[in-house]
Amino acid sequence: MNPSPLDIQTLCDDLRAKSGELEVADAWPGQQFGLLAKAGVLGWVIPREYGGVEINSTELTIGYERLSSACLTTAFVLTQRNGACQRIAGCENDALKAELLPDLCAGETFATVGISHLTTSRQHLRTPAVQVEQQGSRLKFDGTIPWVTGALFADYIVTGGAIADGRQVLAVIPTADANVTVLPPPRMLSLNASQTGAVKLDGVEIDERYLIAGPAEAVMKLGVGGGTGSLATSALALGTAAGTLGLLREEVEKRPDLQEVFESIAAERDEAAAAMLELSRGGATDKPQPCSAEEIRRRSNSIVLRATQAYLAASKGAGFVAGHPAERLVREAMFFLVWSCPQPVLAANLREFACLVET
Ligand SMILES: Cc1cc2nc3c(=O)[nH]c(=O)nc-3n(C[C@H](O)[C@H](O)[C@H](O)COP(=O)(O)OP(=O)(O)OC[C@H]3O[C@@H](n4cnc5c(N)ncnc54)[C@H](O)[C@@H]3O)c2cc1C
Repeated sequence: MNPSPLDIQTLCDDLRAKSGELEVADAWPGQQFGLLAKAGVLGWVIPREYGGVEINSTELTIGYERLSSACLTTAFVLTQRNGACQRIAGCENDALKAELLPDLCAGETFATVGISHLTTSRQHLRTPAVQVEQQGSRLKFDGTIPWVTGALFADYIVTGGAIADGRQVLAVIPTADANVTVLPPPRMLSLNASQTGAVKLDGVEIDERYLIAGPAEAVMKLGVGGGTGSLATSALALGTAAGTLGLLREEVEKRPDLQEVFESIAAERDEAAAAMLELSRGGATDKPQPCSAEEIRRRSNSIVLRATQAYLAASKGAGFVAGHPAERLVREAMFFLVWSCPQPVLAANLREFACLVET
């Protein structure tokens, strides 16, 4: 069964009903992934020859927006798993694809990404977070991957590192390797059920069969799979805003004084979502694009922060009490300020805080 991303209402209702359960200590969206598997969502980014349905980027963007409107944690963990699958599916290593993709598609194995140290994390440090030594056809990894979502539950981590000459590699590391240590995830402001933490690599050796890309300069810019600040991140922000505005609408029905604020943020969200979808169709049209992915991410961050805070303000003190969706959504919205956030987006969001730009 493979419902289109437009036809996942029941799945979203189930995820929404369970979203509060992910706030308890040590939670993990395992049951939610069972629901995703049953609904065919785990095949979205997997090519047909390996059992998937390989939906296009507009459908994927809509799918992420819908899922995150119901449960951000589940949608976020899915993006990290899909990021790993997309990088495997997009590489030229056919043997690796045939070995890993069928079981990943069936939900029998789980993969995740630890790539931020190649893009947005630790960029100011001189020594690379993960160093790689090339020994003939083998690669040896040493260092700490700073951020890996769901590492404790992962069979594979798609990660990378730098060799001595500065070139980088991207590869799959099986977590069963005795030299891989998943460190206990730290307590975070929100999304603790994503079980995100660091992973230590103490001389982990793999052979070329696990290589995805490289050695190459700036391996993440080779375009294998999605990138930092890609539309998926905006889809999750705008989806979270949509879910929040759905709850705010319930307040508005009882309190007409909230109407104007609701309508203004909802219209802005819908406009940004339309621009996002227009851009996602980019490859398929010759029309000039309305704005860049970075610009959409900047707007999405701003909207999700304001939508969640408006909902908290409308919910008053009741919304400030732990367990109310408003306090959780406000904390979850903060995630977009730090997740896969390109420097120009971060700079623009900071300028907005300082009232140096128009929203
Ligand atoms: C919940 C969550 C889940 C995530 N999941 C994943 C995942 O699954 N996979 C993945 O690859 N990534 C993941 N990330 C990483 C994310 O995409 C970003 O890369 C990360 O949030 C960047 O933050 P950092 O603290 O590592 O940045 P850094 O830039 O390393 O900053 C760390 C600290 O260094 C200092 N610093 C920063 N810049 C400078 C500077 N220019 N000069 C001097 N000091 C400086 C500051 O004190 C800062 O607090 C996740 C992040 C979060 C929060």
